[in-house]
Amino acid sequence: MSVEALFSDLMQELEHTTTLDTHEHLVTEAEAIAAPRDFYYLFKHYCQADLVAAGASPDDLAFFDDQNEAPERRWQDFSPFFNRIRTGAYARAVMLVIHDILDLPDLNDDTCIEVGRRLQKIAEPGLYHNILHKQCNITTSILCNRYDNKEGYPDNFYHLASSVEVTNIMDKNGVDNLAAKSGISIHSLRDLLECLNKVVCDWCTDDSVVGIKLGHAYFRSLEFKKRTFYEAETIFNKILTNELHTLSAHEAIPLNDFLVYELVARAEAHGMPIAIHTGLQAGNFYRISNTNPLLLQDLLLEFPRARFDLFHGGMPWVREIAVLAKYFPGVYLNMAWMHLISPAQSRSALSEWLDIVPNNKIFGFGGDYTKVEKVYGHLVMARRNIAQVLTDKISAAEMSRQEAGTVIKRLMYDNAAEFYCI
Ligand SMILES: [Zn+2]
Repeated sequence: MSVEALFSDLMQELEHTTTLDTHEHLVTEAEAIAAPRDFYYLFKHYCQADLVAAGASPDDLAFFDDQNEAPERRWQDFSPFFNRIRTGAYARAVMLVIHDILDLPDLNDDTCIEVGRRLQKIAEPGLYHNILHKQCNITTSILCNRYDNKEGYPDNFYHLASSVEVTNIMDKNGVDNLAAKSGISIHSLRDLLECLNKVVCDWCTDDSVVGIKLGHAYFRSLEFKKRTFYEAETIFNKILTNELHTLSAHEAIPLNDFLVYELVARAEAHGMPIAIHTGLQAGNFYRISNTNPLLLQDLLLEFPRARFDLFHGGMPWVREIAVLAKYFPGVYLNMAWMHLISPAQSRSALSEWLDIVPNNKIFGFGGDYTKVEKVYGHLVMARRNIAQVLTDKISAAEMSRQEAGTVIKRLMYDNAAEFYCI
């Protein structure tokens, strides 16, 4: 079989393989349908970070999206920026939607209005089934940070509960919110831990919750240190007693560390997976050094029986993170968002991971989008990457065609289903 034939054979198999989408931020279908659509709709998530990196100002972004302005005028201003980002991977997912779903050859002066019309036309009840099920062969999705709105989602959407409300206690508001949520009043750190027990137990008894998400890398270092109760209590008491009832970000770190350890201890005891954001943050101007997955070593060593889903391959630390999954039985690697950040880095990472890490410890796809149409574009990019890596391995006699079939099933569904007990 030629290399081209092998690649398309693997692509076909990937297309026919039922997929579990391990990480999404999708709004509900009702919210999606209500949103106005034009050419800029497809750029209103990750692409905005590329537009900013390409020089667009906050005023520019607001103008591109201003529904009171004529779309032709907005397109005129937008298109020079689009030309700067169109060769990047974020924009590639947009182009796949325009080409495959909207059946248009390109986004340009001639098609910019029609793109909006066709997006509007498909925005009707059944949109999610059409895109996710029919076009993507995705049967199951795991959502992040949408648990409070879970009634708006169908049964095949599962949830990661957000750790923020139980670990990021910075002020009296945070204390009051947690007390209201758990029905336990808080007058001491011991009360706070009672609330933590209650909240984690509530998550564990809800079948729609399959794990807990730690998104701390957006606002602090992933270096969670072991702290004593006394150390945490001294800081927590400041919230209860000082005049402002507020901690600075720096001041709150030891309390935050302590609560993360307490949360992970409870998750470990209940067998509840912990998903952790590692690597690149979505947006601009973040502190990337906070997100190196190697900073998690202390936490991983402390909880050898806990199960960790490390998101985004720790990009750009894709090699370092592989060592964590090789050392620790509880550490799994998730390619969510990766194919969209860099197909080239995703391919080289996956190729190395398949050498270094057992094949049951890699989750091959997570769309990581708010807009359902773009999940399709991302999934096509993911399938191409996986097919290319497997083609190379089979061609180099490092893997048999049959083994590649097993890897496909595991990456696209089985590994995540087993890990999250779905
Ligand atoms: Zn995400």
